[in-house]
Amino acid sequence: MERANRDGLDAGRLVCHLASMPPPTIAKLKSMGVRRFSVTCSKFDCRHSANVDFAQAGLPDNLYFPDIAMVRRVTCAKCGGRDVGLMPDWTTHRAADN
Ligand SMILES: [Zn+2]
Repeated sequence: MERANRDGLDAGRLVCHLASMPPPTIAKLKSMGVRRFSVTCSKFDCRHSANVDFAQAGLPDNLYFPDIAMVRRVTCAKCGGRDVGLMPDWTTHRAADN
């Protein structure tokens, strides 16, 4: 009478969930444990990358993360290029589903 039927794999759930979310605000990212974001230069021969603390950048908490580039002139600290990519730094992210 033993049932060893395990077909409930949840591994892909979090990824799907994140993909369907609206852009996170700074406050939302902070609540998830994210303290900073990375600025990566898009210039092929530069690729300089730097981390910026949210506190340091003085960004409003209700700002959507993708809108940072609209309210702040973010430039590469090395070459001064304005074609930079912004990414939340997930290394400090607290895993909520653990
Ligand atoms: Zn650069």
